[in-house]
Amino acid sequence: MLLRLPTTVSEAQECLAEGAVPIGGATLMWATWQRDGFPELAMSLRELPEANVLGRETVGGAVVLHRIDDRVPDVLRLAATTVGTGAVRRTATVGGNLVGSTLRCLLPAALALDARATVLESEGVRETDLAELVAKSPVLLNLRWCEPLACAYRKLPGEAGGPPPLVVASAVHADEGGGRLRVAVRDGYEVLSAGAACAADAEETLDALRSTAVGDLPTAAWDVVRSQVAALLAC
Ligand SMILES: Cc1cc2nc3c(=O)[nH]c(=O)nc-3n(C[C@H](O)[C@H](O)[C@H](O)COP(=O)(O)OP(=O)(O)OC[C@H]3O[C@@H](n4cnc5c(N)ncnc54)[C@H](O)[C@@H]3O)c2cc1C
Repeated sequence: MLLRLPTTVSEAQECLAEGAVPIGGATLMWATWQRDGFPELAMSLRELPEANVLGRETVGGAVVLHRIDDRVPDVLRLAATTVGTGAVRRTATVGGNLVGSTLRCLLPAALALDARATVLESEGVRETDLAELVAKSPVLLNLRWCEPLACAYRKLPGEAGGPPPLVVASAVHADEGGGRLRVAVRDGYEVLSAGAACAADAEETLDALRSTAVGDLPTAAWDVVRSQVAALLAC
């Protein structure tokens, strides 16, 4: 296997055109390659500046999870700290988690932030939403969002070998009419998200959220959403 390390977007685009497979920390790919054989050409984005940004409103696809600190909003920082073990977090990347993994603990956080994805395709760079990122798996260069006013993240404890634990992420964003709440939930392998305008009364906001897809969650999951959102709105 030849591993390319592009340092510019145009070099990365050339690699892609030559059929290079994107890799992050290979925490998922290694076992697959050992079983099925290694690809002829792979590319890592670890030398590409656009994929290594880290700040209040952006994170790069090549950023290793354990590098995600309080420069990013808490909802994303906390999400990163809950992924796997310390050894996994020292190697696994944002791109590998969002695009390549089935668990995607970062996805609810990114949805709550209303993040947009900058992706690389053979035709060039473009921006897309998270639904398309997950559905079509293009090469993720980075995520961008507007810093929220407040946010929260909770992952329930899981049982070894059991279903993925419930994840609830939420954020309040500045909006012309006051604030806008965004909530995302991973229930099993399903991730759903919804928004509601923040009313003066928290109960009214929760009622509006209850009328969305998030309100159709099983009672136990809705109770976790409800208590997180109530605490967030009280901030
Ligand atoms: C022990 C263990 C525990 C885990 N626990 C959790 C958990 O609790 N929560 C959770 O969410 N996940 C968990 N995972 C999965 C983990 O999220 C992934 O292993 C990791 O995020 C993959 O990242 P990577 O950089 O190693 O990806 P790689 O293994 O390098 O790649 C995986 C896939 O992603 C693609 N890819 C990589 N980077 C990009 C990119 N920038 N753009 C597009 N595609 C890309 C690759 O082509 C490949 O298809 C666990 C994994 C292990 C091994």
